[in-house]
Amino acid sequence: MSLEALAAPGPRFAPGPRAVDAGLLAELDAACAESERDPALLARPLRVVVPSRALREQTSCTLALRGRARVGIRVQTLDGLAREVLERAGESATSPLLCPMAVREVARREPALVRDLDPLDDGYAAAVASVDDLLDAGFTELHLDPLLERAAEAAGGPALARASALLRVAAQISHELAEQTLGHHCAELARAADLLRSDAELLPTRALWIHGFNDATGVQLDLLETLALRFASRVWLDRPAAHRAGEFGARLRERLAPVPVFVADPAPDASIRASRHADPESEARAAAAWARERIDAGIAPERIAIAARDLGRHRLALRRQLGRLGVPFSGVGERGGVTPAGRNLASLCELLERGGAISAERWLDACARGPAAAPADLRDALHRLGIATLDDLAATPPERWRDGVSLAARVELTLDEHGAPRVSRRRVGADRLAALRDGAIAALRHIEAEPARAPLAERAARLLRLIELLRWSEATPGRAELLAAFAAFAGVADRPVRREDWTRVLRRALAEASTDPIGGSGGGVQVLTVMEARSRSFAALRVIGLNRGVFPRRISEDPLLPDALRRELRVVLPDLPIKGEGHEEERFLFAQLVAAAPQVHLSCAQRDATGRAASPSPLFERTPAALEESEPALRSPRDRVVEIALRRARGEFAAALPDALADARRSLGLGGVAAAPLAQARLAVLRELDPRDARRHELGPFLGAVGPLRGPADPRRAPPFVTHLENTAACPWKSFLSRILGIETASDARGVLPGAGDKRLLGNVVHGALALAANTGEWPHSFARDLLLEAAREQTEREGIALPGFAHALARSAAPYVEVARRLDAGEDAKLVSVETVGVASVRDETGALREVHFKADRVDEIGGALRRTDWKAGSPKTLADHQRGLAQGALIQAHAYSQDGARARYVYLDPDHDEAKRVIDASAIDPGRDTFEKSVATLLAARDAGAFVPRLRRPDRDEETSACRFCDLRPACLRGDSGARLRIAAWADAARGGSTGSDLERAALAVWRLPEAGT
Ligand code: SF4
Repeated sequence: MSLEALAAPGPRFAPGPRAVDAGLLAELDAACAESERDPALLARPLRVVVPSRALREQTSCTLALRGRARVGIRVQTLDGLAREVLERAGESATSPLLCPMAVREVARREPALVRDLDPLDDGYAAAVASVDDLLDAGFTELHLDPLLERAAEAAGGPALARASALLRVAAQISHELAEQTLGHHCAELARAADLLRSDAELLPTRALWIHGFNDATGVQLDLLETLALRFASRVWLDRPAAHRAGEFGARLRERLAPVPVFVADPAPDASIRASRHADPESEARAAAAWARERIDAGIAPERIAIAARDLGRHRLALRRQLGRLGVPFSGVGERGGVTPAGRNLASLCELLERGGAISAERWLDACARGPAAAPADLRDALHRLGIATLDDLAATPPERWRDGVSLAARVELTLDEHGAPRVSRRRVGADRLAALRDGAIAALRHIEAEPARAPLAERAARLLRLIELLRWSEATPGRAELLAAFAAFAGVADRPVRREDWTRVLRRALAEASTDPIGGSGGGVQVLTVMEARSRSFAALRVIGLNRGVFPRRISEDPLLPDALRRELRVVLPDLPIKGEGHEEERFLFAQLVAAAPQVHLSCAQRDATGRAASPSPLFERTPAALEESEPALRSPRDRVVEIALRRARGEFAAALPDALADARRSLGLGGVAAAPLAQARLAVLRELDPRDARRHELGPFLGAVGPLRGPADPRRAPPFVTHLENTAACPWKSFLSRILGIETASDARGVLPGAGDKRLLGNVVHGALALAANTGEWPHSFARDLLLEAAREQTEREGIALPGFAHALARSAAPYVEVARRLDAGEDAKLVSVETVGVASVRDETGALREVHFKADRVDEIGGALRRTDWKAGSPKTLADHQRGLAQGALIQAHAYSQDGARARYVYLDPDHDEAKRVIDASAIDPGRDTFEKSVATLLAARDAGAFVPRLRRPDRDEETSACRFCDLRPACLRGDSGARLRIAAWADAARGGSTGSDLERAALAVWRLPEAGT
């Protein structure tokens, strides 16, 4: 078949992408055969013009796969063709980078737009979109007056003011495009059309096909029409059988194919199947299994596609699941995850945008210190100091960290210089914090000096200086990408940019550099957006994410140029798009997709990624398809092992785990560790957390059975403080975590503030203030209020609370409590001996051995010739009966330790609203014979010695959480909320109560577990 034997140039329609492909390829085959016979024809290429990179790649690939040499065929996008024309004409295109910024700039001069858009967060983005639509429709300065007139006829009031302003902005931008002081892709297309109209020889062409266009903007249509006329083109259009032609694409059909010519038979009907899945992850898993099955059946991966209207919702799940099943894949425009360079660059942009208000953590990210600088330690240190923002850091005096900062993160248990066990913690030295502060001040000065308007080149130079101040090195991820992005400023570097637009320009220039590709470089299964899949044909296509509100996408009107007004303006600018026509576009795209492959599968998820219910799309529901109810049988190795873990015997799981771990480590690039010991450790942990054997009725280490003393640095070697024993009674596990393991929660400078009436904070301030007051010499006759503030400041610093004024609020709340203590002291004749005094009580443990218990008395007085120790209480007052019960339960034993050497001891409740007669409770009134105290202490010491720290996940007599759990800051290190753990404790307590003798640990655990039942 010779080229002359081809059907005449002109438009042709075919039903569906497969039929279009077949017709197009037959014509190309004929044209290639002609040039094989007459190689001189190769001097001028055959051109195929397509709308997208995705279609260009597919068409090129299909031509290559057809087996014969395809020399002399050039497949190019319309944009690529326009650039070629400009290059051949010796012209260059101006960078489009600054066009959106220029629109914002001009729009800010229009009061009607300023009034509506300025108060919104990036409200001018709406103006950018509207101006893009106008320019794409072919708007030039010449259109301004007729459009203004038409707008005045069709609208009035604020709507007219906004539309007129917008048209003036578009005219100004259009003027700049004509002057080439700005760039826009529509300017390239328009210029290429002009050039070709005057000299078609600029584009050497033997024959030209236009393929894949279903609709086009005005400037695209102008160029396409020029191509059609100047090169006697063959225009292939798709009209899917399932779609009735309407408004969508009407302009393209009018201009390129006024007389429809149907030339191709429809491809055989597609087999359409459908499935619903629980969530996007299951949907992605099923899509991956579907692709794997087709590859295994012999279909070339490149002829298989997975498409979604909004691929961003599925990209990471697809990447995971395709990877797990070993399916090769590539995307076209969709990107994958943020790279380390992307993270650094995003924090740098945020620093430029927010200046001193940036959070301290993001500031550290912007500094891009590598792992060697232990940035996590710096972050914790800043939180501990209550430094929440960059401004806070710059304003904090270095005296705050004179001795460095000790972090919550524990390093190890060691012995101190006296041989006593102690918990050592990670520290950040004062010099590192000072350097950080110096850097913060320098960066802030630099950012604050950023001019309100400056040429792009100057902004770039200042940014380079900023990353120097941040000490980015050549190797810092993001630096090379930043320098490469600056190359995009060529040609527009002299243009002034406002400070608030600078980061927008920068983000635009860095967009691609911040993420990695979703998959490979073109080969494998095609993972596409619906827009990338349009007009393409496949051997098998799966459309995922067919949910309501996603596909068809929601269409919203342009608030500045509504559809009613656009319709009126079309009289002057016929190619101005109407947003409402997007509904028809969605239906067209779907009809095209279901005709794009002989095997089509449609799927949706019943829940979205956040777990919210999601409805199927009407497109999914109305398409006749065979519904598959079951999930695919094909499983990745990981899925198989998860299924064994969920449904099979533990032994089978144990057998499968080593291989699964080895696989997982290999896929993550982790090697070097034998999988078997790792699997054994994991299985041991699993047996503790989810026992399926006799362990279900026993305690384990996560349920507090930690065992007796271990090693010389075990903190239990030191005598306990009496408050530690009280904590053990309240919750043994919490006391083990905090007092023995030394676990603390990390500070959060941006966390929720406690109330100024918080009992713990209030108590600490009252204690601190009373200790300071007692040393003034004026107590109890008077009390300097400054001492309260001093105590409150000390407390807020320790808690890392940076809010100025919070210490004042705390001091004000604490003042009435201190006044109660002063009044009490003034009313008696006691002589102050000391405050905050550490003492030692001798007690007997369960074996009868003498043991030491330490205590700290808030106040020691001499009264009537005898010592008296006082425990100030700022919490809710308790009665004598409460104390008797609390002592029996081990929770209120402090004052009894005070009196162990014969001294008097008392609790004093300072709540100003409390009954005066009930304020003071004497230890001797609670437990005259001291038997209860000794019994409680012996039980608590035995639990501590044996290592029996059962978490109080429930009450001993019923499955009910204690109030302590609700406020427990260590609950992340506890099995709280695990009903299995609560049942296991109940089963163990029942069995132990039933009389089995058990070990020392079991007996001690049961005794401490049952303490809350004592005294009731
Ligand atoms: S959450 Fe409850 S059981 Fe767990 S450590 Fe805290 S207080 Fe104890």
